[in-house]
Amino acid sequence: MERYKSSGKTGGLFFVYGIAGIAAIAATSWLYQKLLEWIPLIYVSFLATLGFAAAVFFVAFLIGSLGHNRSALLGAFLGLVIGCAGLFGSHYVAYRGMVDRATDSIVDSVEDLGQSITREDARKRLGKVGMGTYIDVRVESGWSVGRRGRSGQFNGALVWIIWGIEALVLVGAGLIGGWSATSEIYCESCKAWIDGGDHLLARWDLDAQAVHDLEQAQRVDDIVRIASSPPGGRQLSQYVEFKSTYCAKCKQTMYLTVTKHWSEPNKEGGTDDHQDDLHANVVVTPELVGQLSELGRSHPAPDAHPPA
Ligand SMILES: [Zn+2]
Repeated sequence: MERYKSSGKTGGLFFVYGIAGIAAIAATSWLYQKLLEWIPLIYVSFLATLGFAAAVFFVAFLIGSLGHNRSALLGAFLGLVIGCAGLFGSHYVAYRGMVDRATDSIVDSVEDLGQSITREDARKRLGKVGMGTYIDVRVESGWSVGRRGRSGQFNGALVWIIWGIEALVLVGAGLIGGWSATSEIYCESCKAWIDGGDHLLARWDLDAQAVHDLEQAQRVDDIVRIASSPPGGRQLSQYVEFKSTYCAKCKQTMYLTVTKHWSEPNKEGGTDDHQDDLHANVVVTPELVGQLSELGRSHPAPDAHPPA
C-alpha cells in the first residue's frame, strides 16, 4: 500500500526564510545571554535555556512550514544551523560583555590614580583577548552556587558539561523543529499544506478476526472489502475508525487512516483508553473515500462510542 511520503522537494523561499530565521535567532541570543547574566540563578538559567530552545524549535518549524520544505534532511540541517546560531551568538555576546567589563575596570583603576584614559586606549592596554581567552576564563571561574558566603564553586569540567547540555538542548530543538515540519501532509499538485484535520468516515465495532484482517490488509481494496462486511462481534471494548485527510483545494489528494480503539481495566478500577493506527495516511482515491463514507452512513456508529 502506498502511504504519504514527503516528496523531498523544497519551496523557492525556503532559503530566504532560513537566512531571516538565522538572523532572528542570533539577535534573540543577545536577550538570552543578558537574561543569564542579569539573573544568575541556576533555576532561572535552566528555564531561560528551555525558553530559548522553544524559540529555536518554533523558528525552525516555521521556516519549514512557510518555506514549503518537504525534505526532512534539509529541514533538520537548517534547524541545526539555527541552533548553532543561537549557541554561538550567546557565547559571542558573553565574550563581548567580558571584554567590555575588563576595559571598564582599566578605565576605573586609571581614574583612581587621578589620571584619565579613553576607552579606546584602555581597550588597547587590555591587549589581545580572543574567544580562547574567554573560554579559559569562563571555565576557570565557572558559577558560584548556593548562599552568599558559603557558596560552592562550579567550574572546570562541570562548565564543559553544562555547556554541552546547553548545546545539545539548543541544537536538538532546532533539528527536531526543522525535521518535524516535514511530517505535515502536503499536496504536490496544489503546492499547499493539507490542514483541516481528519474527517470521520465510519466508526464500527469489529470482531477480533476482522481487526486482525484489517491490520494484515495489503491493498486498499482489501480494507474496503473488510470494512464492507457487516459490523459484527459486538466486542464493546473495541472499535475501529476510518478517517480521511484531504486537500481542501483540489479534493483529489486524499489519505486514509484506520485506527483501532480499545479500553482495558486499570488498577484504579476504571478503564484506560488506547488507540493504535492499523494503517496511517494510505493514498486513496476520492471514489474510495466516498465508498467508505457511504458505508459509514448505512451502518451508523453505535451509541456506545459518541463522536470524540
Ligand atoms: Zn490539492
